[in-house]
Amino acid sequence: MKLCILSGKGGTGKTTLAVNLAYTLNCAYYDCDVEEPNGFIFLNPMAVSAEETLVDYPCVDYSLCTLCKDCVTACQFNALAATKKEILLFKELCHGCHACSLACSEGAITFAKRAVGVVEKGRSNGIFAARGVLNIGEPMAVPVIKHLLKQLKSSEDAILDCAPGTSCNAVTTLRHADAALIVTEPTVFGLNDMEIAVELLNHVGLPFAALVNKSRGEDSLITEYCGKNGINLLGVIPFSKEAAIAYSKGKLLLELPEYKLAFEALSKQLKEAFAWN
Ligand code: SF4
Ligand code: SF4
Repeated sequence: MKLCILSGKGGTGKTTLAVNLAYTLNCAYYDCDVEEPNGFIFLNPMAVSAEETLVDYPCVDYSLCTLCKDCVTACQFNALAATKKEILLFKELCHGCHACSLACSEGAITFAKRAVGVVEKGRSNGIFAARGVLNIGEPMAVPVIKHLLKQLKSSEDAILDCAPGTSCNAVTTLRHADAALIVTEPTVFGLNDMEIAVELLNHVGLPFAALVNKSRGEDSLITEYCGKNGINLLGVIPFSKEAAIAYSKGKLLLELPEYKLAFEALSKQLKEAFAWN
């Protein structure tokens, strides 16, 4: 089972849920929120190895180039521009799709590689933990997420800690998941962004359930929405000052007895909900 933990919006406590669930379920953890991968703060893995994420970019051989501009026309990402003397490349916009090379009848385009991020792997108290880290200033997270998720083993159970929102970053992670858990907070913003996440999950056709985090006992916004839409609301994780203090110190909520019980109950519900053996 590969369970994706996602949230319509940032700040719902998705990563807190994901790392505590990975320990409770004794399964691997993949931090796919590569723009802000903070799961390792809580897991603190040992013996971390790192491998760069490399992407292709085109190089023009001016001994062959006729400055016909066919490559510029072929590029759907506006990564190329022509001057009177050369073809300019805006590397950050290049998706490495090779369309420019296919369009070049002179064979003037070859490819080189550059690093856009890194994938790190280690172990934390018996579980495998991996994360992608996008280099500062790089706009495209998807190559790093894809590189990270290449490490997934078909036989392993894993928690995939998804990027917030419903962009390509979330969709790329969902493509590797068998089921999803939406973590939301009981606010108008939480509901609005949860609705978008539900639309996405229905579109990709993944089974999913929901969970309210940071509950202060006033969850009717979410419970009514889930009731109306037939969404399996697994329960609530309460807000508490002790939990906030533990979080701020990079500690797992499992260290607090009432949260340990809550995560054990949640793990059981998840296994039942998704027939996870
Ligand atoms: S398509 Fe090839 S020949 Fe034409 S401008 Fe681009 S690199 Fe030069
Ligand atoms: S590899 Fe694709 S995205 Fe990059 S410059 Fe060529 S056509 Fe554009």
